[in-house]
Amino acid sequence: MARIVMKFGGTSVADLERIANAAARVKREVEAGAQVAVVVSAMAGVTNQLVGYVDQTSRIYDAREYDAIVASGEQVTAGLMALRLQEMGVAARSWLGWQIPIRTNEVHGKARIEEIGTEALVPRLETGEVAIVAGFQGVSPRGRIATLGRGGSDTTAVALAAALEAERCDIYTDVDGVYTTDPRIVAKARKLERISHEEMLEMASLGAKVLQTRSVELAMNHGVRLQVLSSFEDKPGTLVVDEDEIVEQQIVSGIAYSRDEAKVTLVKVADKPGVAASVFGPLSDAAVNVDMIVQSVSSDGKRTDMTFTVAKSDLERAVATLEKNRDGIEYEDLISDADVVKISVIGVGMRSHAGVAQTMFRTLAEKGINIQVISTSEIKISTLVAEEYTELALRALHTAYGLDAA
Ligand code: ASP
Ligand code: MG
Repeated sequence: MARIVMKFGGTSVADLERIANAAARVKREVEAGAQVAVVVSAMAGVTNQLVGYVDQTSRIYDAREYDAIVASGEQVTAGLMALRLQEMGVAARSWLGWQIPIRTNEVHGKARIEEIGTEALVPRLETGEVAIVAGFQGVSPRGRIATLGRGGSDTTAVALAAALEAERCDIYTDVDGVYTTDPRIVAKARKLERISHEEMLEMASLGAKVLQTRSVELAMNHGVRLQVLSSFEDKPGTLVVDEDEIVEQQIVSGIAYSRDEAKVTLVKVADKPGVAASVFGPLSDAAVNVDMIVQSVSSDGKRTDMTFTVAKSDLERAVATLEKNRDGIEYEDLISDADVVKISVIGVGMRSHAGVAQTMFRTLAEKGINIQVISTSEIKISTLVAEEYTELALRALHTAYGLDAA
């Protein structure tokens, strides 16, 4: 018998009517003969409200209490969904993280799942009872409630699908799938029928908000087949699957962008061993994540410029750290710029095709867009450009890589 996991995000359980709509979808799967585990988020907006309560009560809070508070939204939707199903004549019960148990590590607020016990759950599923699992939460080694980071219900769903060896994991949301790029910016963006785990991982970590990055990583490592689909329409969504399941592989599958970038340039730093360490050591101690890095050659063999990017929210801290360490690093000037955007072209087909980067560079050049920083990986090319060109660059690249909808 098919066993599936269905996950409903906050907008899909935003009120009682939507919970009933989601329950009807669950009922359909049960009637089709599947064993179903459902993972629910809190009603849209509820987690934000709970986080707000914490912030208003305590500025530097006890993360264990933060977790006790913010995990409560999911408890409500799990209970409501179970009740609604019972009203529809479907056997169902709610499960909290500790009841399953979903065991996590001790990193409150951003815990990782270490193990899911399925001994209690499986026999109930086998009798045909639907399990409604509160997403986003687990139990720490000390028996406290631990949450998995914002958006963590996706990770609950994927981890549960892996533990239950489910046939698939359907992620119901308010968009109908994964697009080649942001459809709000590029009207010709296309919904992808399939995308590989690896590409989805890049898309998610580069800012496509459909899935929590960690959930994609888990799905990739455990070979979980994901489907991202709308809970408001009856049509297939996007399948996130193993690369070999994709027959007609596009060279480029998608274009992502992130406005959460800022650029820092150290002018005329010494060109000698140990300089990079003197710059990035203090930054890493200050918990500033550095992303792209370029260093130019020095014409005189003594001094060079070094440019790198950090998250916008880290810029102030990065600049303060570098100013504090000015004597140790020895640079002439520090220039920062928060009006930048990182645009990334993603596709596993890049591994076997040349010229993908060149298409990006030529396209941007034709539009008169200056590239400030470039970085590449096996399946991705990223460029940093001025933020004002975001729309122009995305549209031009989307056309250049043949991604436009007919
Ligand atoms: N309710 C949690 C959040 O808003 C978890 C989730 O919805 O995935 O972050
Ligand atoms: Mg989400």
